Amino acid sequence: MLILLVEDNTDIAGNVGEYLAAHGHQADFAATGAQALYLLERQDYDAVVLDLGLPDLDGLEICRRVRSRSGYTAILMLTARGDESDKVRGLRSGADDYITKPFGTEELLARIDSLSRRLALDAGPEKIHADGCILDLGRCRFVRDGAGQDLTAREANLL
Ligand code: CA
Repeated sequence: MLILLVEDNTDIAGNVGEYLAAHGHQADFAATGAQALYLLERQDYDAVVLDLGLPDLDGLEICRRVRSRSGYTAILMLTARGDESDKVRGLRSGADDYITKPFGTEELLARIDSLSRRLALDAGPEKIHADGCILDLGRCRFVRDGAGQDLTAREANLL
């Protein structure tokens, strides 16, 4: 999976990033809300791990932007222990789940996996894999050797 990790605490970001990489995932980092929005404009992520307390922007704003762009990106919020209002506001802003700090990286990845399975099932039309290429009918996207190309619905149907 391609995962965006939005976290201004570099210790947490480093630990999580290493764990995800060790399990075959690719993680991009954003330490500020501005960096997160910049990356989100340019890349389709399978999942976003989002710390709500960022130095510049409110994490909830990022949550809303991700959700307005894509229904298939899993959003997992990182929240402070016991802060129920944050959890509620986050879920109402489009987050799929939350995990409370401090958390274990194993549980984090298990939650991401579970969310992305659920979203993939909701997505309806399947991804077709053949010869190292992926045709994603849900997103009208063709991926070959890791390089993606957006298609019109007509092009996707023809393929
Ligand atoms: Ca923070």
